[in-house]
Amino acid sequence: MSVKTIQLDDSVYDYMLRLGSREPDVLRRLRAETAELGKYSYMQISPELGQFLGLLAELTGARRTIEVGTFTGYSALAVALHLPADGRVLACDISEEWTGIGRPYWREAGVEDRIDLRIGPGGETLDALIAEGGTGAYDMAFIDADKDGYIDYFEKALVLLRPGGLIAIDNVLWSGRVADQQDQKPGTVAIREFNEHVAQDERVTLAMVPIGDGLTLARKR
Ligand code: CA
Repeated sequence: MSVKTIQLDDSVYDYMLRLGSREPDVLRRLRAETAELGKYSYMQISPELGQFLGLLAELTGARRTIEVGTFTGYSALAVALHLPADGRVLACDISEEWTGIGRPYWREAGVEDRIDLRIGPGGETLDALIAEGGTGAYDMAFIDADKDGYIDYFEKALVLLRPGGLIAIDNVLWSGRVADQQDQKPGTVAIREFNEHVAQDERVTLAMVPIGDGLTLARKR
C-alpha cells in the first residue's frame, strides 16, 4: 500500500524542524519579531518553507529571482542567503511598513545588497521588468501575495523566467479550504481558480507539494 503524505502532529513537526531545518539565528529572530504582529503574522512563511526555498534556489543555480509578496522579508532573506554574492532577489510588496521590519535583518545577514525591494502593486512591477527587457532573465520566482492576483503574477513570472526556471506559489491548499465546495469566500475561490489554471498548463512541469500551506512548483519548459 502506498503511503499518503503523513499528518504532522506537534511532536513530529518539531522533530522535522530540529533535524531537517537549519534556520540561521537571524531568520529565527526575524520570525519572532514578525510573530509579534499578531493577526497579520499568519502571512509569514514557515521555517521549513524558507529552508526549502533556499534549497530550490541552489538547485536552480539561481542568480536572479523574483518575489511577489515580501511581507516582513523572511522569504527574501531565506533565498538571498543561498544566492551567489552577485545574486539578486527582486522583491515586490505594497507595504513600506512591513518590509521595513525585514531590512535590518537583511543588513545584519550581510545580504541587503542582494535584495532589490520595489514598493508598488506587484503586477505593475512585473510589467515594468518585462518592459525593461527582463523577459527570460530570471531563474526563479516565489509568489505569495494577494490571491486574486495569482493568475496575473504567474503569467508575468512565466514571461520573466528562462526556460528551466522555477515558479513556486504559496498557499495553494489554503488550509484545506480549496477542497470544501461550501467555502465560496473570495480568497478560496481565487486559489481554486489559480490551481485549475495551472493544472493542465503544458508550458510547465508541475508538482503540488504539501509543505506549509501547500506549494505548487512549476518549471518552465
Ligand atoms: Ca503565504
